Amino acid sequence: MTKKQAIQNLDEIITKVEGARLYISHHHIVHIIAISKYSNITDINTLYNAGQRAFGENKVQDLKLKSEELEDLPLQWHFVGRLQSNKINNLIDLNPSLMHSLDSLDLAIQLNKKLSAKNKTMKCLLQINSANEQAKAGVSSSEAISIYEQISNICPNIKLLGVMSIGAHTKDNSVIKKSFKITKEIFDKLQANGAIYCSMGMSSDFELAIKSGSNMIRVGSSLFKE
Ligand SMILES: *Cc1c(COP(=O)(O)O)cnc(C)c1O
Repeated sequence: MTKKQAIQNLDEIITKVEGARLYISHHHIVHIIAISKYSNITDINTLYNAGQRAFGENKVQDLKLKSEELEDLPLQWHFVGRLQSNKINNLIDLNPSLMHSLDSLDLAIQLNKKLSAKNKTMKCLLQINSANEQAKAGVSSSEAISIYEQISNICPNIKLLGVMSIGAHTKDNSVIKKSFKITKEIFDKLQANGAIYCSMGMSSDFELAIKSGSNMIRVGSSLFKE
């Protein structure tokens, strides 16, 4: 990817984000996380030079390789994938800015225990399977509030800052919108418990996600396209 291409990709996304966020309000700010899982160090560096600062990976090993390789750059690293129990310590050692994919009470308890042993904390989002799809990770929308409160109460080393969802896997916009709406309603209720981030929207559906109230989007393919 050339720098010119990176700037163009970023410009296109920002223009679309601007259009969508004004649909909510002039004060609605949207964070853009560049998901670099299909990209290499060179392209991440190019996107950094085009102005992007926050990047995300879905595998602990890739997060380690890329963040260590680029440690001289002032980047924010996010983790957005399924966290296997045997990778928890590795993730903790990488100090991610935000972990988007806390997807069960059981994982929270294991993570909290290991954080506590290392005397560390981690900022996390609770992943909600609002599209109610078998293939997706996340807590069910009906249990989300109760699980969020339980994690807040019994996992002091986890700093819960909101929720994350992946939109329904379909081309039917009304179904995708419905899944975003479910997550947004849960997010609104959790703001009293300190939730500030609603992470929803990927390359194919981020405008719809923002119009549904998302304030953090995770875009990969459209930012790194050649
Ligand atoms: C890959 C991935 C993204 C980005 O997907 P694109 O369609 O490439 O924008 C966002 N969120 C998660 C959890 C991902 O795994």
